[in-house]
Parts: sequence; structure tokens; C-alpha cells
Amino acid sequence: MNVLTKPEVIGSIEEMRSRLTDARSRNVSERVERGEAGLGRPRIVLVPTMGALHAGHLTLVRRARSLGDIVVVSIFVNPLQFGVGEDLGSYPRTLEADVAALAVEGVPFVFAPTNQVMYPDGAASTRVSAGSVGSLLEGAARPGHFDGMLTVVAKLFNIVGPDVAVFGQKDAQQVFLIERMLADLDFRTRIEVVPIVREDGGLALSSRNRALEPAQRAAARALSAGLEAAASVAGQGAEATLQAAHAWIDAQPLVKLDYLVVVDPLTFLPVGALHHGPARMLVAALVGHTRLIDNVALNLP
Ligand code: AMP
Repeated sequence: MNVLTKPEVIGSIEEMRSRLTDARSRNVSERVERGEAGLGRPRIVLVPTMGALHAGHLTLVRRARSLGDIVVVSIFVNPLQFGVGEDLGSYPRTLEADVAALAVEGVPFVFAPTNQVMYPDGAASTRVSAGSVGSLLEGAARPGHFDGMLTVVAKLFNIVGPDVAVFGQKDAQQVFLIERMLADLDFRTRIEVVPIVREDGGLALSSRNRALEPAQRAAARALSAGLEAAASVAGQGAEATLQAAHAWIDAQPLVKLDYLVVVDPLTFLPVGALHHGPARMLVAALVGHTRLIDNVALNLP
């Protein structure tokens, strides 16, 4: 029988840092004992999350384990990235179940700070600015969201000091902006991006899917079906991909489309008529009160 070791759930910044210092030296001694010295310093891998973990998050955790020696999963519903009237209050919080799921994955550390620990003055007065791409698409619908997201990612990187951090491709604009922040601000951490994990039927897994009623969940499948249809006609150009996706999404009255665009992965701006090569189609929609996003890679001729 597999004996599960529960992860240590840590709430304070000082404790997180000192536990990692200890874990690093323990890891070195263990490797020396096994005759594996000389492999370089132990690598810390961070998986930042807002909890309410699902199989998508656990895929990130498994990738993290394969990338380093000490895995830290952070669970923090970051108030800075929620706007007025958004779902900060109702965002699912399931810490006990999350920790149990991470025990099964063999994660040693969960960093789960309170708002008070992360923002002792109420809100960070110094914030990272996501720049102009930060106010497009998700940023247009959620003003300030990406500044808040980058600020907490920078804080988590400074607290944990990861060699690698793992993110999901589901949040494509988030990945773009984090990669740019790391380059612009000369962070040492590199990021690893995991493909979107979907349920049977195609809907991208999301903590927010819990809020969907059965009819809404069925309607929401039009998003992934539309993206899949788009990818299958990518050889005919961007316009054809948009038409193919619209055909699926516009047929679902429960799905209120916010945006459906094809962007250049290098700039995150909508592609022009002459664009060819790699591109990404992005979609966002409201299903009931639930905001859903999804995306797919395209190769345009
Ligand atoms: P969240 O808890 O929603 O902030 O997500 C934490 C991390 O998990 C982010 O890097 C997300 O992109 C990633 N993630 C969430 N859902 C999925 C999914 N269905 N497939 C892959 N990654 C995901």
C-alpha cells in the first residue's frame, strides 16, 4: 500500500523560505548518500494556483515533479486580480480537498498564505504593469486583472525562488504576459507551459466550471468544438477559421460571446490579412454568470 505523506501547508513567507532552505540541504545530503553528488543544486519548481484543484492543475503538478527536486504548489485567491463585481467572494475555496489531492501527487509543500500575509497594508502599493497587451482581450473585460496577476506572480517568485514555474496554456494571455515580465525584469525563473486539459466532450477544465448547470455545461462545449472546427480549416486562412468557430458558438443561445480573435503569438495582437505561420485563436464567453476562456494553436498558410 502507498503511504501518503501529507504536504506541509505553510502560511508565512519566512517559514516558506526557511523550509525551502532546509529542504535544499536535505536533498543535497540525500543525493550525497546515494552517491549522486555533483548534479548541481536542487531545483525548486513552483505551480501557482488559486486552488479548487482539478485534473488540469494536477497535470501541471506532475510536470513540475518531472522538472525538479522540490515542488511547491501555491494556493492563493489573489484579490488584486479580481475587479469590482467579479467572483472573488464566490470563487470556490476547497483547501482540505486540494491538500488531499496534492498528497496523492507527492507534493511536499503547499504555500497557502492569507490576504494579510500577502498584502499587509491592504493592497500592494507597488504593482507590476502589464503594459498595453494587459488591457486587451481578458484585460479589456477585466481592467487591472493582469497587473494584479503579474504582481502576485512576482511576489510568489520572490518568496519561493523557483528555478522553474509551471503554467497552463489555457490562460494564453497570462502566459504571454508572464514570459514578457520575466524577460523585461530579468527574472532568473523560467516557465514551462502545459497544454490545455479538457473533459470528455472538449470543455477545458476550469475551477469555474463548478458553477455551470447541466444545460450551461452542454452549451459551453460549443467553445472547444468551435476551436476544433477552426483548427481543422486553418489551411484555408484566418477568415475561414473565424467563420468555422462562429458557426458553433453563435448557434448556442446560452453562450454570450465576448471575443473570438486570431492573434500573432509574438505580439498578441490580432493577425493582419498577410499573416502566415503560427497563430492562436482565443475565445471568451459568458455562460450564465460564468466567464469561460479557451484557445487553440493554428498554423495559417
Ligand atoms: P488557476 O487556479 O485557475 O489560477 O490556474 C492555475 C494554473 O493552472 C494556471 O497556470 C492555469 O493556466 C492552469 N490551468 C487551469 N486550468 C487548466 C486546464 N484545463 N489545462 C491546463 N492548465 C490549466
